[in-house]
Order: sequence, then C-alpha cells, then structure tokens
Amino acid sequence: MSPANTTEAQRVIICVFDGLRPDFVTPEQTPNLARFAGQGTWFRDARSVFPSMTRVATTSIATGAPPRVHGVVGNAFLFPQVTREHVLDMSRADDIALAEAATGGRLVEAASFGDVLAQAGKRLAVVHSGSAGSAYLINPRARANGHWTFSILGREHSQTPEANDEVVARFGPLPPRSLPRFEEIDYAEQVLREHVLAEMKPDVALIWFNEPDTSFHYRFLGSPETLAVLKHVDAAFGRILDWVAAQPDADEYVVIAASDHGQISSRDALDLAGLLREQGHAGRRAAERTLAGASFAMTGGNMGEIRILEGGTAKRDAIAAWLREQELLGMLFSKARNEVEGEVEGSFALSLVDLDHARQPDLIYVLRSDDAPDSYGNPGLGLITKADVPVGGGMHGGLNRHELNTVLMARGPGFEPGAVDGRACGIVDIAPTILRSLGLQPAQTMTGQALMRQVDAEASLQSFDTGATGFAQRLDLAGRGASRILLSGSRA
Ligand SMILES: [Zn+2]
Repeated sequence: MSPANTTEAQRVIICVFDGLRPDFVTPEQTPNLARFAGQGTWFRDARSVFPSMTRVATTSIATGAPPRVHGVVGNAFLFPQVTREHVLDMSRADDIALAEAATGGRLVEAASFGDVLAQAGKRLAVVHSGSAGSAYLINPRARANGHWTFSILGREHSQTPEANDEVVARFGPLPPRSLPRFEEIDYAEQVLREHVLAEMKPDVALIWFNEPDTSFHYRFLGSPETLAVLKHVDAAFGRILDWVAAQPDADEYVVIAASDHGQISSRDALDLAGLLREQGHAGRRAAERTLAGASFAMTGGNMGEIRILEGGTAKRDAIAAWLREQELLGMLFSKARNEVEGEVEGSFALSLVDLDHARQPDLIYVLRSDDAPDSYGNPGLGLITKADVPVGGGMHGGLNRHELNTVLMARGPGFEPGAVDGRACGIVDIAPTILRSLGLQPAQTMTGQALMRQVDAEASLQSFDTGATGFAQRLDLAGRGASRILLSGSRA
C-alpha cells in the first residue's frame, strides 16, 4: 500500500543546524535550505524554549516539552541533590553521569521520542557534532533503547562508543578540530549519508551540525567566514536531499530541517560577578568548578541563574534590588508568587516561561538586548558576561525574538509543498511530529503538537508586564490550550 495519500511516512530524517536564524536562510546564502523550503512547509514563526540554550533546547527537541517537564533547566545549573561542590555543566559526560547516578536515571524526567520509538520497535541513529552532553540529551536512554549515536568528538562523547569504532574503521580518523568547522561538517554528513541512511536504514535518522552556532559565537554573525561555513553546511544538507531524491521510495521520507535557537550579537561584555562582589556579594561562576567561600552560585552568557548558598531570601532580594537599579538588566525572574509575578519585587514568575521545576533557581537574570543592528546589519544586539566569547560575538539564552526564532521546515507526507505557515509553534513540536509521521502517538508528557495537523485550539496572543520603581519588563507569548510558545521578552 502506498502511503502517498496518508500522512504516514516510512522514514524520517532530521537535520539540525545549531544556532541558525531564519533570516540567514536566503537563496544566496543557503540555496539548498531555500530550495527545501519551496518543497515543504516553512514554519516561519517557530520558537525555541527558555533558556534558549543548546542543552535545554536539545532536551526539549527530544522530549517535546519545556524545561518545566524535562528538568534540564540550564546549560549549566546548580543541582544540590547531585552535588554541592560545583555547578553542573550539561556539556560534560562526567557531570551528566553524576546527575544520572544521583537521580536514579531521571536527569531527564520526561519520555523522549527515542523512548517512544524504542517501545514501538523502531530504530533511531544519531550523527552528532556537538558536546558529549548534547549528544546524550537528544536520546538520553540511547543505550537502553538499543539505538546508535556517533559523535564527531570521539568515542568517549557517545553513549554507544561502538558506533564510533564502526565509523572510524570505515571512514578513517576523525577530522581535526578547526574553526570554522568545515571538516567536521563534511565527515559527519558523509557518515549520515553513506553509513546511516544507505547501510543502517534506521526508521529515524538525526544529524546535528555544530555550525553556524560555533562561528556565530567566535567569528560573528554575518562575517565572511561565517557565511562561508553556512554555505558549506547548506551544501552538506543539499547532498542529503540529493541522496533522498535518488531513492525509489523518496516520497515516503519526511525530512525536517530545524535549529535549536537563534543568536544575537554582543555589544559589550561585562564582569557581572565582579560588579556583584563590589556590592559585597561574593559569588562563584559556574566555570570556576568550585563554590568554596561563595554566598551564591551563578551562570553567565547573556542570561544566567543565581542560586543563594548563604543568606536566604534577604541575600536574594538584595542582589535583585541591585540588579533592578542597573541599566544592564533586561529581565528578571523568580519563583511564582502568582501566575504572572515572581516572589521577588518586579520579577516575572518562572512559571510564566515554563521554568517552574523543582530544580528552578532563586533568580534568573537576562541582560539587556534590543533589535539594533550589529556591525553586519543583523538585528539583535545585547550584553554578555565576560568569558571566552569576544565582544561582537554572538550569544543566545535570552528571550530576544532573534534568539527565540528558529528554523523549522518539514517536507514529505502530510506537509504542503511551498507553504509558509505562520502559526505559533516551536522545537517542542518536533518530537510529536516525528512520531506522528510514523503513525505513533506522542508520549503523555509531550506538550508539543504534531505540525502536520491543524492545531486544535487557535493560539491566543498574550502580553504581560511587570516591574518595580525604575524597572519594567514585558513578555509576549502564544497560549495553545494547556501549553504556550514564548514569542519574545525584553525590558520595557
Ligand atoms: Zn545550540
């Protein structure tokens, strides 16, 4: 029976372009993605989750749910149940292992699409070029599920190191790490096409390209080097599309192109920990890997969490009061006092941005950003904390719409060719869409919706405002029944 008239596919391929902004998808810069958009449906207003960071977003792609449900509340976060010695870094295999041991294998608290596939006897193969943690979180129970994960970073970065051994035996040594990551793109794409798609033939295949994210961060959005690697990764995508087109059953593939978040450029970098120390608040940054002598722990980027270690709510409120007086502050969140406001004066409730989980921090700050153009003319400019990303480099994590807006396109059974769909949707919809493509029901914890079906309820646009003396902030979201899509947020 041909599935041509149904929404069911035989196979699904997902290509993730880390950090890619939809406004970088043009016929000139990304001819293959532009061609693909014409063959499928482009969900132009797709969104990431908050924080719009890779490990949080990866887990939301895997579980079809926001951090409230899956529990990975930051790229790095203090998780006292696991350790009080340092802030856990979700990119590191050792920290992931520590968290899995302390939680009885429940670091990710929700079922992933990999879990649902495994229960249905279906196979998932992943070719990953991100961190060990990212490769882990896209299919947290890959080994138990009998699935296959290859990491371009080496066998110790994969849950299934035998996959790496198999690949190296066939294709030779892993490529050198260079910036931009041209060689890694080519090696990973060849593994996907010649090994995974042609030989393994899994029901679902996913490739995660680490570009343009890496070059956005370190070579700037819109620079000649970044545009060159963007064209390079687009060409790799083109070879995957050409491979599908050459198959006798090409019509039975659903292909999804996605990004996990966008990026904005940095206009300045500031030493937020140092500024807080000048106010008498001695904190430790996550990167220090120790909390010795600290009264609070913090993470950085263009947003971060603050966890009070000593001094309780008085310390929390004193830090928040100082932040509210600063021009650097964009947004502020704390535990819910009601549906909109947080316990801390002038803050939004963490529940309003789907971050109300038992692992939620005391405070989340977002540094100020706006839609001003960067030096290459791309809208979106904001502050970052001082670390390894240079001033001018890209960053993400916050609620600027250019960080939240993601690439999301799907082609194949159930998707209208050449359509542009402007509904509020996002990365949480990817897992239900993959499962629906194969005729499977979503896991009960999935709040996302399969994209080939019209949404049950019309999304309702909602705006929220709060603030305190001298500080006001605003958040726009789209309510979709029991779940929501975050559209943008900023200082008002
Ligand atoms: Zn990312």
